[in-house]
Amino acid sequence: MKTVKDYIRTIVDFPHEGIMFRDVTTLFADPRGMRLAIDQMLAPYVGMQIDKVVGLEARGFILGGAIAHQLSIGFVPIRKKGKLPGTVISEEYKLEYGEAIVEIHDDAIQPGEKILVVDDLLATGGTAAAGIKLIERLGGEIVGCAFIVDLPELGGRAVLENLSYDIHALCQFE
Ligand code: IMP
Repeated sequence: MKTVKDYIRTIVDFPHEGIMFRDVTTLFADPRGMRLAIDQMLAPYVGMQIDKVVGLEARGFILGGAIAHQLSIGFVPIRKKGKLPGTVISEEYKLEYGEAIVEIHDDAIQPGEKILVVDDLLATGGTAAAGIKLIERLGGEIVGCAFIVDLPELGGRAVLENLSYDIHALCQFE
């Protein structure tokens, strides 16, 4: 039987020469692959109190929407700067080259709400860490962070686990 990893396509030299891009659109496009990924991402959290799913732009929206629907809870997007229409709070973080800014609506999470963070891939952890900071600035409590792919060589998992966050990934690529 195919595993989640089997559905993921690798595109060489995207978006730059030397990068092996792990493309989850082939997983999303397959009905068994999509169901398998959502079920496995959810599995550790079934029966836990979770108030909202937060998805990181952009593939975290696809996964987060499906997971929130399955748990019958709300979904909140964290978006790149300038995309959200309401009043936002922002966090800047470092990319391989330069910086990026992510934002969340300042009324999207209430203090004490339990939050599951979702994205497709964990690399250096910079994106997830910035998202976590936004959620915690609004008073949210991180229950866990769920990803399809972990790239352990880039160290994100180690950084976030050292900060005592629960990290759940379905597969790894070296
Ligand atoms: P990080 O901030 O270094 O952990 O990078 C993770 C972010 O970059 C996530 O939002 C991913 O969607 C995106 N990303 C980085 N590399 C890849 C890849 O190979 N495939 C898909 N997304 C990637």
